[in-house]
Amino acid sequence: TRVGYAVVGLGHLALENILPAFGRSRKSKLVALVSGSPEKLQKVAQQYGVKPQNCYSYDTYDQLKDNPDVQVIYIVLPNAMHAEYTIRGAQAGKHILSEKPMAASSAEAQAMIDACNKAGRKLMVAYRIQYEPNNRYVRELVRQKQYGAPKMLQLHNAQVEANPNHWRHIRALAGGGSLPDIGLYCLNTARFILGEEPTEVFAYQYSTPGNPLFREVEELVSWQMRFPSGVIANCASDYYAHESRWYRVLSERGWLNLENAFAYNGLQLQQSFAVGQAEHNDHTYLMEKDQFATEMDHFSDCIQQNKQPFTPGEEGLQDHRIMEAIYQSAQQGKPVQLPLITKLDPFR
Ligand code: NAD
Repeated sequence: TRVGYAVVGLGHLALENILPAFGRSRKSKLVALVSGSPEKLQKVAQQYGVKPQNCYSYDTYDQLKDNPDVQVIYIVLPNAMHAEYTIRGAQAGKHILSEKPMAASSAEAQAMIDACNKAGRKLMVAYRIQYEPNNRYVRELVRQKQYGAPKMLQLHNAQVEANPNHWRHIRALAGGGSLPDIGLYCLNTARFILGEEPTEVFAYQYSTPGNPLFREVEELVSWQMRFPSGVIANCASDYYAHESRWYRVLSERGWLNLENAFAYNGLQLQQSFAVGQAEHNDHTYLMEKDQFATEMDHFSDCIQQNKQPFTPGEEGLQDHRIMEAIYQSAQQGKPVQLPLITKLDPFR
């Protein structure tokens, strides 16, 4: 049997990636839709065979509590709406899968965790990179110290977001600019690969003057994170630089490079390491999986077996705390300390 999902918000990600992914999932099925547009609801419901009585508006959202077909609510709304719909969804007795970034602040993230705990429901943040085979493989190699101790990480995520009226450029809906949207991948993936939490951040921020895209939210954030092991991660995100999503892990005896690291497909892993006097270069091609089907199936598995998700709410909360420290550092022009956390989550 499959776990039933209601998808909330029928924008780009939902229509182009999430809804089609149900067709490639093994444990998850689409059973309900929530949208503010009746026309869109009708069209999409017809396309995916969703029953008319399982179509909801934002006003009738709370009635999901009376629908036993729905076990999970998958929230694919603008960032600042995740908290409200998570809390209402948990109160309706449903498990919650929230898109990243989890919220617009650490306070909202904490409120989401509290609401799900209170309702006895599970909460997962859709960090698809943590379920993606190439990224998991890099994590394995780094944690096994395949090329000795890691020393430095470089992670970059850039793209051009061209419409200044889109919610991504409105602070009240996005919570921030390039950092929470795409810089988050650098931040979250560095923590994922290393398995430790940063104790200090130092950041710069920049926005091209006069560009309407950056009236409310920032363009570029460049930051460093210091980890207890001594590793330093150099990260950067930009909203007005040609698409570039990659990272490199530099270790004692070799490096790993993941091109298109944060993309939906086309990831390419390259490794280089010393073999005696010679340098060995290797390209590894791992089978691509539908990242959205994989992460939904993970959550469905957790629900069926009553397990903690690999990326629970606490994982999103930690990213929000670090992002707040990054903004604070950029504003003050000096490093900001974070509390020493030795183990975020005993299940990881
Ligand atoms: P989008 O703008 O394409 O879709 C947002 C949807 O929310 C639209 O259907 C819009 O009508 C609806 N909406 C409801 N209330 C709204 C309001 N007050 N203002 C604006 N829109 C409103 O955005 P998207 O790219 O689909 O992003 C949705 C969420 O998914 C975001 O949190 C984003 O960060 C996340 N996302 C994640 C990934 C990933 O790879 N995991 C990729 C893209 C987006």
